[in-house]
Amino acid sequence: MENQAQNIELTSTLTCPECGHSEAETMPTDACQWFYECKGCGLLLKPKAGDCCVYCSYGTVPCPPIQQGGNCCGVDGGDAD
Ligand SMILES: [Zn+2]
Repeated sequence: MENQAQNIELTSTLTCPECGHSEAETMPTDACQWFYECKGCGLLLKPKAGDCCVYCSYGTVPCPPIQQGGNCCGVDGGDAD
């Protein structure tokens, strides 16, 4: 029961911190999404400090590279754990 390599969830529900609107989005597997415009209020969401993409900050599921146990692209200067 240790086979989890292909168990990558590609759909993440983003929740806007401003208006609370939730929207299910499909994540790209080969790129990080830094910005996401809320479909409820139009706020441009950005990753929180230490997060690599909006899915890691506001989504129900972190981005695919994180799910695979690696680092996301573009994460720099962070060698904590
Ligand atoms: Zn919003």
